[in-house]
Amino acid sequence: MSQIGFIGLGIMGKPMARNLLKAGHSLVVYDIVPGPLAELVEAGAARAGSCREAAALAEIVITMLPDGPDVELAMAGADGVLAGARSGSIVVDMSSINPTVSQKIAAACAEKGVEFLDAPVSGGEPKAIDATLAIMVGGKPQIFAKAEPVLRAMGSSVTLTGPAGAGNVTKLANQIMVACNIAAMGEALVLATRAGLDPEVVFNAVKGGLAGSTVLNAKAPMVIGRNFKPGFRIRLHQKDLRNALLAAESMKVSLPFTAAVQQMLMALMNEGKGDLDHSGIVTFIERMAGIEVKKPS
Ligand code: NAD
Repeated sequence: MSQIGFIGLGIMGKPMARNLLKAGHSLVVYDIVPGPLAELVEAGAARAGSCREAAALAEIVITMLPDGPDVELAMAGADGVLAGARSGSIVVDMSSINPTVSQKIAAACAEKGVEFLDAPVSGGEPKAIDATLAIMVGGKPQIFAKAEPVLRAMGSSVTLTGPAGAGNVTKLANQIMVACNIAAMGEALVLATRAGLDPEVVFNAVKGGLAGSTVLNAKAPMVIGRNFKPGFRIRLHQKDLRNALLAAESMKVSLPFTAAVQQMLMALMNEGKGDLDHSGIVTFIERMAGIEVKKPS
């Protein structure tokens, strides 16, 4: 069993930290918001007063924060993870961030004799609660082997995909496929609805064929039922596609479909829809056609 520092107890981090406690690990937790900290302390974790304190006694320090700038902030400065982390300990950043930032953090860790893995997740809050997340990891194989038992307490699929940054490249690839799938589904269902068809009948007709997908099965019923309760929020998917475009630019790769969907997500955020489920991408396409995807009345 490991001594683990856990920083960032939000929608994802809180259930992930609980699962580590359930698996018998010792936890020292920290968040800038007191509410979730108190809940974890009640569940048996020790409370740290800063990122530095959470890192100071830990063999493994996990961060689960919104985006790259938040992770850089948590690492740096007199109260940061790197001021406290012991030589030979492992920092595992599980946030979804730009892979070039992961590589920068890996280099800063190496300067302090600290190992680094980037290990973003897929699956959302329900899978974080059930400890069945898909975890995509970047880093050295021997460090992955040390951290893998801890990661397995939070996920059912744990895969090393390459060196530092590779976990986030894999996560961005995942997010591109999901976003473009939702947008394509939106165009298809808007067309079918304008043609006078029942979108539910169309969905049932195609779901067993080549166009069928996990995304279609999860999101088409939400759109047809006009239920945009998150799930995965539009603002987080906008952040992921922005990171995909930034990473792509640094590698001189053009991602035309990703760019188009990222612009749709940005427009939806400006309309006040940032906290809707990402299936709400469809509402952007609906507005251009002046029609809603729903059962004919
Ligand atoms: P969240 O906003 O609910 O939680 C982030 C937590 O980090 C908050 O409690 C916040 O107070 C804390 N925090 C921010 N800055 C901090 C700092 N400097 N020090 C300590 N604590 C700090 O976000 P979330 O939904 O838990 O997502 C976390 C990451 O996981 C994101 O990168 C997200 O894209 C990714 N992710 C989310 C989902 C999902 O469905 N929510 C699914 C897969 C991946």
